[in-house]
Amino acid sequence: MQQYISRRFIMFFMILVAVLALVFMLVHYALDNKGADPNDAAATTPVEEGSADLAADTPEPTATPSAADPYDAVKNYWSESQLTQAWGPDQVVEHLFFHPIIAYPKYAFYESGASESQRLGLDDWMVTVDEYNKILQSVYDKGFILVAMEDVWSEVTDESGTHMVRNTLMLPEGKKPLIISFDDVNYYPYMLEEGFTSKLVVGDDGEIWAECTDPYTKEVFLTKDLDATPILDQFVYQHPDFSLNGAKAIFSLTGYEGILGYRTQIDSEIPAGTEAEFEANRQKEIEAVKPVIERLKETGWTFGSHTWGHINLAAESTDLGWVQKDTEKWLDEVGSLVGPTNILFYPHGARPDGDDWHTTGPKMQYLHDKGFRVFASVGINSFSYIKQDISAVICDRLHPDGTTLRSGACIQEYSKFYDTYEIFDPIRPDLGNTWPTS
Ligand SMILES: [Zn+2]
Repeated sequence: MQQYISRRFIMFFMILVAVLALVFMLVHYALDNKGADPNDAAATTPVEEGSADLAADTPEPTATPSAADPYDAVKNYWSESQLTQAWGPDQVVEHLFFHPIIAYPKYAFYESGASESQRLGLDDWMVTVDEYNKILQSVYDKGFILVAMEDVWSEVTDESGTHMVRNTLMLPEGKKPLIISFDDVNYYPYMLEEGFTSKLVVGDDGEIWAECTDPYTKEVFLTKDLDATPILDQFVYQHPDFSLNGAKAIFSLTGYEGILGYRTQIDSEIPAGTEAEFEANRQKEIEAVKPVIERLKETGWTFGSHTWGHINLAAESTDLGWVQKDTEKWLDEVGSLVGPTNILFYPHGARPDGDDWHTTGPKMQYLHDKGFRVFASVGINSFSYIKQDISAVICDRLHPDGTTLRSGACIQEYSKFYDTYEIFDPIRPDLGNTWPTS
């Protein structure tokens, strides 16, 4: 009997030791992963293809960092007593926008299978990773501070009715406010073939990473160095004084090929018999994108509409019925995931109803009825105008890209942000420029 008891005791003791060893290993593993320095600009993690999908299938508590969230240091960097500079309604709030940045410029400009016109389009409308890094550094060095677009204008109701006002921003002394927006953060399939990253994911460290396929080796890996979003996250961690109250940038999203690299859209041409399979996959993508949206929102990123179908609001052929259908789809498929917004970024910069400034045609009236108040186009300066007839703001954004970098006429306007000669990436194709000759 005694022998029996002691044998049981020994077995129990051995199991206890094994369990303790396992717990010790797990804790160590977790600490190692937590220890990944969010400021490490060179951080990359190889992953198996599809593993991000699998990881996203089971939302883990690790995706919501607890007390040690490094973003808190950004959000709380400026104390209220330091915000003593009033930036009034008549002072310009500069606004720059970017398309997705070119992760592999040599591949994108010279080696991908894309047509020449597609490659020229990339040169026209995008910047390379190097250019983007230099632009961020330059606007920071010149004293700009990121502000949330949502904080710049508000809707008020007073004796003159309901209308928009430009708010007075309280800034640290010496800083100038800057809005940054990112258009088409959808990871369109065509871009994935042309040297861009492929989706945003939440990494083991709880931060946003970009998934990328090396176009040469086809290796799939996670990176914070090749995509505009994690690059800005890292930059703000390194320079928390670059952000007012934790602001980052606003995504301008379409819906027709999903959002953020997830195929969340309802396709109008689903082959007969595959509807159930399509919908099951779509629901999987919706679940997978949710933690990404959640982390983006809790770290200063916001969302606006770029219409569902990237429609041209100025075109005659885009009639009111089409705008209505498109807007409903955006609200159903994108708004339902990213939450409400009152900001609309015109695709192609195309203004509805001919002239959105002086007139309010049926398209803008409808968009206003649907809750949009701030209508952003593209222009030669950060112009903004509060409409007098309805409660709305018209504004323009500047666009660092090949067209403006090659343009001598833009050098002066952009010099408040950067020196064009220093930014221009020599890897761009030899398409000339109109810079002044000295
Ligand atoms: Zn666009």
